[in-house]
Amino acid sequence: MPSPNDLHKAETVYTILMERYGHPDWRPDFAPMDELILTILSANTSDINSGRAFQRLKAAYPTWQAVLDAPLAELTDVIRPAGMGPTKAPRIQSALRRVQLERGEFDISFLAELSAEEGLAWLTQLDGVGHKTASIVLLFCFDKPAFPVDTHVQRVTQRLGLAGPKDDPAKIKALWEALAPADWFFALHLNLIRHGREVCHARRPACEICPLQAHCDYYARVFSVGPD
Ligand code: SF4
Repeated sequence: MPSPNDLHKAETVYTILMERYGHPDWRPDFAPMDELILTILSANTSDINSGRAFQRLKAAYPTWQAVLDAPLAELTDVIRPAGMGPTKAPRIQSALRRVQLERGEFDISFLAELSAEEGLAWLTQLDGVGHKTASIVLLFCFDKPAFPVDTHVQRVTQRLGLAGPKDDPAKIKALWEALAPADWFFALHLNLIRHGREVCHARRPACEICPLQAHCDYYARVFSVGPD
């Protein structure tokens, strides 16, 4: 059960980020299977690189069956712009194989009928699909109350003091799901990422220009002025 202070801080953070960045635009909606594969490609790389790899994938193969049947070395080369091709190519084929095996087709739109928890459990059984990828598919494609936590969301949440320094992404996901109403998830998730990229950098956070200063534990700790 979140404390009243944390609930208040979460609301303040949401409001300030909305004032700063507005309601985020997102790339066009993708079909759920596309979103799943694109999100697998997006691990540890930029949106530009994963987007380029996804475009190459779609240009090289007319169907998901063709992706599944592709020689692994060839698929690895096609998705090269996303990096980690030797890891991501088998993950993609494994996910496709599992979807086809369980559903008889390359279609995961049945997830619309499941709860967020059920959808999360189903998606995370796929090879290489963790709670972040699963939550992105559930939130972006099906508007389910699942809060994706990537490295930026994790870092900003920890510095603000809403999460502890040792809290892992799964714990921070549960935390935001308890702190924020579901209709904030989309904007809050994307605005936290943007804030992490543009201001609250991993190495040198630009605290001097940050609108969250007054609500940030890291700022209070690092910039506090002690008694003379
Ligand atoms: S004040 Fe600094 S550490 Fe805190 S959220 Fe802003 S940039 Fe990050």
